[in-house]
Amino acid sequence: MAKRDYYEILGVSKTSDEKEIKKAYRKVAMKYHPDRNPDNKEAEDKFKEAAEAYEVLSDADKRARYDRFGHEGVNSQFGGGRGGASMEDIFSQFGDIFGGGGSPFDSFFGGSAGGRTRSNSGQRGSNLRIKAALTLEEIANGVSKKIKVKKQKSCDTCNGSGAKDSGSVKTCETCNGGGYVRQVKQTFLGAMQTTTTCPRCGGSGKTITANCTSCKGSGRKMDEEIVQIDIPAGVEEGMQLSMRGKGNAGKNGGPAGDLLISVEEKPHEHFTRDGKNIIYDLFLNFADAALGTSVEVPTLEGRVKIKVPAGTQGGKIFRLRGKGIPELQGYGKGDQLIHVNIWTPKTLNKEEKKLMEKLREMPNFKPNPGKEEKGFFEKMKDYFS
Ligand SMILES: [Zn+2]
Ligand SMILES: [Zn+2]
Repeated sequence: MAKRDYYEILGVSKTSDEKEIKKAYRKVAMKYHPDRNPDNKEAEDKFKEAAEAYEVLSDADKRARYDRFGHEGVNSQFGGGRGGASMEDIFSQFGDIFGGGGSPFDSFFGGSAGGRTRSNSGQRGSNLRIKAALTLEEIANGVSKKIKVKKQKSCDTCNGSGAKDSGSVKTCETCNGGGYVRQVKQTFLGAMQTTTTCPRCGGSGKTITANCTSCKGSGRKMDEEIVQIDIPAGVEEGMQLSMRGKGNAGKNGGPAGDLLISVEEKPHEHFTRDGKNIIYDLFLNFADAALGTSVEVPTLEGRVKIKVPAGTQGGKIFRLRGKGIPELQGYGKGDQLIHVNIWTPKTLNKEEKKLMEKLREMPNFKPNPGKEEKGFFEKMKDYFS
C-alpha cells in the first residue's frame, strides 16, 4: 500500500510552520469528519490519513525524520499494517485540535449533525491490552493463537442493562429519555449550541431503581474468554495489532472496546533477526576453512547443507536467499545470512602443538590479504546493500 506524502495530504508546503500545519489539518479533518460523512468509508480513510500526517508533521522530531528518510523514518502509530488507529484513538490524541474538552463531536457540530452523540447507546468499553510472545518460526509463517483473556463481559442475568428486572427501569427525568441535553458552548468557531450526553443517565435515557444482583448494577462482569488471534507473517517486536470489539464490554449496552495485541519476539537459540533477514553464526575450525567442507546449518524450515569452499576467510557471509522473514503484507522475503567464524583451539596437547609449530613456518600460512579479502567496513556495506 503506497502512502501519500504527508505534506500533500494536508495541502501544505515543506516550509510551512506549526501554525499553518495545524490550521490545514483542522480544515481537512473537518471536511472528512465522520459526523459530516456518515457511513462513508472513503471519508473515514481520508480522515485517518490526515490524522497520521498531522501526528508526524506536528512533532518537530518526527517531522525532521520524515523529511530525511520519508515514511520509513517514522513509525506512526496510525500507519498501515500496525492495526490502524480507531477514531477514538485519533480523538483522544488530537482532541485539543477540535477545541472544547474530550468529545469533539459536541463542540464541533453540535446538534446539527446528529448521529453519534444522540444515540442512546451506552458508554464504549475500554480497550484491553495483551502481549503475544512469538517465536521466529511463528513470525516467519504467521500464526493463529488461542489466548485466554480476563475481561469485562456483558452480564448474562440482566443482558448488560444492570437492572434487576424490567420493572426497575424508568425513563430518565433529566433528558426525558432522549439521552442527551442541549447546551451553549464556547468553541474556537464561536458560540454554538451543542448537544451533550445526559449526565444523569449517561445517554441511555433510562434510570434504574433496583440493581441486578448478579453484577450489582454495572451490567458487566469479569470473566475469561478464549480469543483466537491471527497474526500475519512478518510482524516484529513492538508492533500492535488490534481486534475491534474484542475488548471490555461497554456500559449500558454500549459497544465493546478493542483488544490490542503487542507483539513480542522470543529469543531464538540459533538466529538473530535483523529486519527481514536472520543471521546465523557458523563456527569452522581452520582446517575445514582451509580445505573446504560441507556443513549442515539450521534454517527456519529445517536443516540444509551448504558448501564451504577451500580458503574461506573468517568474517565471510554466505547468503541463503529467501530463507528469512517475509515482508508484512508484501511479497518479498528476507535472507538467511551465515556469518563465518574461524574457531581457534583454546588449548593444545603436545602433538597438536608440534603440528601447529610446523604449520606456522609454512609459506602459505603467512597472512597475505588481497583485494578480494575486503575489510570489515566494506563487508558491512555489502551486507546492508
Ligand atoms: Zn447484571
Ligand atoms: Zn438522561
